[in-house]
Amino acid sequence: MSDSAETPNLMEALVSLAKRRGFIYASSEIYGGLNGFFDYGPLGTELKRNIRDCWWRDMVQRRDDIVGIETSIIMHPKVWEASGHVAGFSDPLVDCKVSKQRYRADQLFWSPVVVDGKIVGYVSALESEKTVEELQAAAETFKRKKAITGALAPVVAKDFTEASEAEIPLIPSPATGEPGSLTAPRAFNMMFQTNVGAMSDASSVAYLRPETAQGMFVDFKNVVDTTRVKLPFGIAQIGKSFRNEITPRNFIFRSREFEQMEMEYFIHEDADWAKCHEEWITWCETWLKSIGLPASHLSRYTHPKEKLAFYSRGTVDIMFKYPFGVQELWGIAARGSYDLTQHANASGKPQELFDEASKKKFVPHVIEPAVGVDRIFLAVLAAAYAVEDVKDEKGNVEQRTVLRLSPRLAPVKVAILPLLKNKELLTNRAKALHAKLQKRYAVQYDDGGAIGKRYRRQDEAGTPWCVTIDFDTIEKPGDTFTLRERDSMAQRRITEAELFALLDEQVY
Ligand code: ATP
Repeated sequence: MSDSAETPNLMEALVSLAKRRGFIYASSEIYGGLNGFFDYGPLGTELKRNIRDCWWRDMVQRRDDIVGIETSIIMHPKVWEASGHVAGFSDPLVDCKVSKQRYRADQLFWSPVVVDGKIVGYVSALESEKTVEELQAAAETFKRKKAITGALAPVVAKDFTEASEAEIPLIPSPATGEPGSLTAPRAFNMMFQTNVGAMSDASSVAYLRPETAQGMFVDFKNVVDTTRVKLPFGIAQIGKSFRNEITPRNFIFRSREFEQMEMEYFIHEDADWAKCHEEWITWCETWLKSIGLPASHLSRYTHPKEKLAFYSRGTVDIMFKYPFGVQELWGIAARGSYDLTQHANASGKPQELFDEASKKKFVPHVIEPAVGVDRIFLAVLAAAYAVEDVKDEKGNVEQRTVLRLSPRLAPVKVAILPLLKNKELLTNRAKALHAKLQKRYAVQYDDGGAIGKRYRRQDEAGTPWCVTIDFDTIEKPGDTFTLRERDSMAQRRITEAELFALLDEQVY
């Protein structure tokens, strides 16, 4: 990652590049957009596809123990009762009655202002990388404005779920800065509801899935009965999920419609789950590095035992250092036999396997790596983005924006550039190469503008290689082109066969 990736306005730069180059647009933008929803433009769609394809290839096609499925987005409502989502898939919601703003209680922080050991008031701040600093600054301002003298104690940041009934009316709303308008947190179910069929009554209520995982549990028996899977084995799925997030934010990091790549790895009830859990965490870390995320930006967060759901044996999140802070990218949970047992009980259909050794039936346990495509997308974009000083052909220093995307992920693999637009010998050769490459790879033909400009355009789109068809190509023996590498900007001559060999090795 470049130094510029550490700058505070990296997010602005990414959002602007995403819009300018057609990676990501606001959904329904001509109507003002819809908070928490996004569209992927032509380059973004390719990049997202490549993320999905890489995962699918590595997770499913290149393994013998994992199969893939695709289940419906709207499932029987009983699925979500059995899974616990109807009763418990909620976030604590806090309303500001004056500003009408809504907050997630666990993202709203506060602290008493303590002067000379006495509480003289309260301050609040929304969760960020600098929550504590902001609270401290607010406490100092509070003390100054109220002309209170004495020693101010360091703030103690607590989230709003930790506020007592007596404290709630004293904590200022982040929107107004005044206390008295925040409500006590209440559970807000994040599932989107809809109705199936012509009748809109209680009997037709259904939900857009908030995760893809339940599809794998509900189809567990189908997969076991129709394929030759043997424990341990996994079922994987990629698909859209929907959550009515209270505060969608940080661009595509937390949206209301997003895409998940989840895999349920079923193991024997007596298997060493901790070992398997660790193996999957390592697999996920290795995979993230393989698509170009720097190890320096990855870390682990182990959920404390006391915060785990009762059935969970352990959850580790792989965290990524996003421009707005270190946040969850991939969750790897050891879920025991909870989900299959719940569905067996609710449906009356046993979800068991037969153990030849003990001659007993048992419900398999599961390890679940669950990741969001959009969160990977944002991590990849942040890691790849760099602005650097380079010299143009005349030796003048200029800036270039470059996306150092791995060749596997790059939306365009090769740009084919005839040196001149109006020389048929050049353009014909370029078009022939383009047509040939296009059969296998996402490539782009570009004959518009000076060659330097065209290189910059491709740098910004993350294209790893540009191939220039120049006079040497047509005048000298060997039919070679100039291959220009995005990262080093080095140029060398290459034949068509060598180009195909390079792509074959790097784009897999
Ligand atoms: P968070 O704590 O950030 O809300 P979570 O722990 O609820 O996430 P999971 O239910 O474990 O998330 O979902 C698995 C993965 O799906 C997450 O690791 C993340 O990559 C992705 N994901 C979850 N919610 C969203 C969202 N609103 N927008 C984009 N991706 C999401």
